[in-house]
Amino acid sequence: AKKSGRSTFRAYRRGMDELIEKRRALEADIERGLERDEFELYLQPRVAARDGAIVGYEALLRWSHPERGMVQPGDFIPVAEVSGKIIDLGEWVLREACRLAADFPDHLHLSINVSPVQFRHPDFLKNVEDILSASGVLPRKLELEITESVLIDDDQRALVLLGHLKSLGLRIALDDFGTGYSSLSYLRRYPFDVIKIDRSFVSALGEEETANAIIRTIIDLGSGLGMRVVAEGVETVEQARYLTEAGCDELQGYLLGRPQPVDAAITAINASLVS
Ligand code: C2E
Ligand code: CA
Ligand code: CA
Ligand code: CA
Repeated sequence: AKKSGRSTFRAYRRGMDELIEKRRALEADIERGLERDEFELYLQPRVAARDGAIVGYEALLRWSHPERGMVQPGDFIPVAEVSGKIIDLGEWVLREACRLAADFPDHLHLSINVSPVQFRHPDFLKNVEDILSASGVLPRKLELEITESVLIDDDQRALVLLGHLKSLGLRIALDDFGTGYSSLSYLRRYPFDVIKIDRSFVSALGEEETANAIIRTIIDLGSGLGMRVVAEGVETVEQARYLTEAGCDELQGYLLGRPQPVDAAITAINASLVS
């Protein structure tokens, strides 16, 4: 038994070593990717529920890797967060988003995802200020999407930081709403402009009765607090209809448009301006 215990441990160690090695390789790869300009933003439209007009876009990070092809954020953001590379990556996203939004017509906004690791970094506010002013973009054209997890660890700092970001003119959205804890108290305390109903509720619409009730409650709550309520992951006409009738302000999801390369989005924006 002793012997097999030891060999199990050895196998475990080998597994761990491989994992650490893989992670280190990916870290170095991310750094190279930034140097070689392999990252890009895809844009997914957000539309007004009432008339389907595009009101803005969410920037979603993609990695066009020379060997691995197009890599999705789920496959590198967690590693980038553990290693700290998310700080450089997040700054790149912010700079790129400011550059794009500066050329957007005034009625469209661009939202970007901010990692909790990025949000917690002591230089975050200063970086945002510097990048904003260097780009000359109208701050109200940008929206930062954060998740509840950033509110949990340092309530007071988060409150002050969000206040600063808002005073710069940025809009703040609470992403993945409904998946964290004690969401209600956050809504009362923090100055969100937007709440985004998590896709898990939207996809359960019509299948689990509780999802319908939860969605109605979130919409009433958000609207009552003067926030815009956005549903993410809308894939079917039935979902869109239900959400619209329930009073949801905006919809986002494959039904309304998939994330697309910047060039394609800009072509669509320009076409909509002419017509
Ligand atoms: P998220 O912020 O919740 O983004 C929404 C995700 O749902 C995106 O996946 C989007 O492509 C996908 N999606 C949109 N509509 C639909 C739909 O109708 N059905 C389904 N099944 N999926 C839909 P993506 O692009 O793979 O991004 C995954 C996550 O990675 C994001 O979740 C966000 O947490 C993170 N992420 C993406 N870009 C960035 C970034 O620039 N910075 C940071 N920190 N995180 C990012
Ligand atoms: Ca998001
Ligand atoms: Ca989300
Ligand atoms: Ca999510």
